[in-house]
Amino acid sequence: MPAAIAIAAHPDDIEFYMAGTLLLLKKAGYNIHYMNVANGNCGSVDYSSSQAIAIRRKEGQAAARILGATFHASLCNDVEIVYDLKLLRRLAAVIREVKPAIVLTHSPQDYMEDHTNTCRLAVTAAFSRGMPNFQTIPTRTTADYDTTVYHAMPHGLRDQLRRRITAGLYVNTASVQKIKHEALAAHKSQQNWLDTSQGMNSYLKAMEDASLEVGKLSKKFKHAEGWRRHLHYGFCSEKADPLREALRRNCIVNGTYERRLRDGS
Ligand SMILES: [Zn+2]
Repeated sequence: MPAAIAIAAHPDDIEFYMAGTLLLLKKAGYNIHYMNVANGNCGSVDYSSSQAIAIRRKEGQAAARILGATFHASLCNDVEIVYDLKLLRRLAAVIREVKPAIVLTHSPQDYMEDHTNTCRLAVTAAFSRGMPNFQTIPTRTTADYDTTVYHAMPHGLRDQLRRRITAGLYVNTASVQKIKHEALAAHKSQQNWLDTSQGMNSYLKAMEDASLEVGKLSKKFKHAEGWRRHLHYGFCSEKADPLREALRRNCIVNGTYERRLRDGS
């Protein structure tokens, strides 16, 4: 069975941006893997750091169970995801264990550095999958295989300079929206926190609104997640698009985006 891994920054990011696609990949025969690089320790005004880590780990495990995904433990605290060698070695070990044909991760442009740094770490961890002279922690053997990296939509569909980011692919998540909702609801501690810190009156509604908005942009699906494919150099063949192949009619190309890529505009 091929494998797909979602690598996000914080517990609940996968549910916000990637879980629908991950669920559809599972239905298409993929083993799916779930990993948040940070442990969520700063995502609370009610608990101490160690309490928050314990609570959010349990919530993440419950969410992964709901998604039917293999859970991978977090590697560091929130706001401490930096492009750091030790973190890279540890994440590269996870990639070498999973051997994913598909890597789903954050957008290279996003509203906070934990997200953009997770993206950079995930890209290099995948890039070094076949390099025996790059040491991982713990040591894991390399393997020679193709992998394709897909970037999720940034928070608010904008980069850090407020510019709109457009998806290259739209995935129809309507059929798995209910499970995606349940998995997000497993992060119970976030209800109060997101109200306080980011003025989201309901994080569940925020996720629903986001998927409806991306759905509207797709001009085809009611609920959708958007993706951009990473450049193929060092990863796979130019034409490789395993997400489209696996999801078929549940995944459509944004023609305008593709034309712009071709024309360099
Ligand atoms: Zn996040």
